Amino acid sequence: MRKIFLIALIIFGLGFYHSQAQNLDEIDEIAAGSKILVLNYHQIDNKNTSLSVTISDFDAQMKFLADSGCVTITPDELYAGLNGEIELPPKPVLITFDDGYIDNYTNAFPILKKYNLRATIFIIPAFTSVYPNYMTWEQLKEMEANGITIESHTLTHPKLEELPDDEIRNELLNSKNMLEEQMGHPIEFLAYPTGTYNLHIAGIAQDLGYKGAFTIKYGVVDKGSNFFALERVPIFHTQTTMKDFYERIAWRQSFEEFGWIKK
Ligand SMILES: [Zn+2]
Repeated sequence: MRKIFLIALIIFGLGFYHSQAQNLDEIDEIAAGSKILVLNYHQIDNKNTSLSVTISDFDAQMKFLADSGCVTITPDELYAGLNGEIELPPKPVLITFDDGYIDNYTNAFPILKKYNLRATIFIIPAFTSVYPNYMTWEQLKEMEANGITIESHTLTHPKLEELPDDEIRNELLNSKNMLEEQMGHPIEFLAYPTGTYNLHIAGIAQDLGYKGAFTIKYGVVDKGSNFFALERVPIFHTQTTMKDFYERIAWRQSFEEFGWIKK
């Protein structure tokens, strides 16, 4: 019963995130894999900061996704699915992390492995193997061998919209080149630092060979999404384990609309 409730919650929650009730076509689309939830995490640790999700909360959230039958996908699969090159599985979820903090390796990685979930981490290569709070190249390689995909979060994490064009190009191209050299595969996806972007920055990213870029625009991705302004659902600090998580993925208004009781 509990499992059915959880499955219903994720399907209905996503389906009604626009708060448009009774849109059965949309629910079908989610079940068929044409609408994709992209989660955005930063730090998994027990510090009480806005970007931190506690280790036990993260474990419960990953267990929820696994128990709900969600299938974790990669950015490449998302891209191919939206382009109609492959058929995405039902309930596709893309789990992403920004910045490449060390706790992604020490705290999140063991939990992802435990539930057999894949994830993508957007890395700042100028910080990698440099600052102790960020992961090392060796750790990134170990993670990539175990279901984690590494992509770019620019070279030094600046506010791109404040930079002249040549510096924007350097940030996007040098991070791509450095990551490709270290990881040994094409780097074709970007997460904008601080989530901010504009059409001009998106155009530069496209010119440099990126296939898509992720924002922190709140929503689910579907065929109507702009590849260079992909929506995500930010999972920042969760106060009370699953309640905050449910509300973020389901939106509070749709949660209450269906009479679900918050615990
Ligand atoms: Zn960031």
